[in-house]
Amino acid sequence: MKYFIAANWKMNKTIGETKEFLDNFIPLVKDTTDVDIVVAPPFTALDAASQKMKGTNVQLSSQDIFFEEKGAYTGEVAPGMLLDAGCRYAIIGHSERRQYFFEDDVIVNRKVKAAKKAGLGVIFCCGESLEEREAGKTFDVIKREVEAGLAEVSAEDLVVAYEPIWAIGTGKTATTEQAQEVHAFIRKVLHNLYGDKANGIRILYGGSVTPDNVDSLMACADVNGALVGGASLKPDSFAKIVKFKVTT
Ligand code: PEP
Repeated sequence: MKYFIAANWKMNKTIGETKEFLDNFIPLVKDTTDVDIVVAPPFTALDAASQKMKGTNVQLSSQDIFFEEKGAYTGEVAPGMLLDAGCRYAIIGHSERRQYFFEDDVIVNRKVKAAKKAGLGVIFCCGESLEEREAGKTFDVIKREVEAGLAEVSAEDLVVAYEPIWAIGTGKTATTEQAQEVHAFIRKVLHNLYGDKANGIRILYGGSVTPDNVDSLMACADVNGALVGGASLKPDSFAKIVKFKVTT
């Protein structure tokens, strides 16, 4: 299975900074053929990023999406508009959307369905909080988020990101054992939903991934890539992550 490494820039980078990043980053990864490389800038920089990515091996994603096709939804961006801006993927269900914008499983599921209907690939995020982990609820939370978020959604063009909330932006990475344990569990839940097609779904790890810890994380059997926040903001750092080496 081809690895999948995506940059989630969150609310960082102007149009100018996006262009500068891509001018530096694209040459660093131009010979990488064994990884799907994706960058998700803010909405305002999507078009500029799309122009820079044309004819390269770097693909564009949005960080969110709205589930209606058009109409009176002030401030929202429709799936078709993201396609029009050059997006190949949409990140959906990120814990920051769930936490700060009150997106529940129903909203996340509507967004996933709308993205797929429009022809966008989906990077679907799930993950437990520290309180949930300490209360022994990790597997319950993951099962609920995956089953509800992906209800009536096909396995095609679907990428799942496991992002333990306690590891996002904190510098606290999950150990390889913790990551593999949850990834294997997600694979099992996906098997129940999709049968053998679950074997083809990439499951990314996200949460304080850096050039220093990426190799060991990518060596885990059910870790098929990474969703990277902070360490994706500098071209050389993100390029090092993209060019990880699995040593077995
Ligand atoms: C993220 O928010 O998707 C993320 C993984 O962030 P960071 O790498 O900064 O922990």
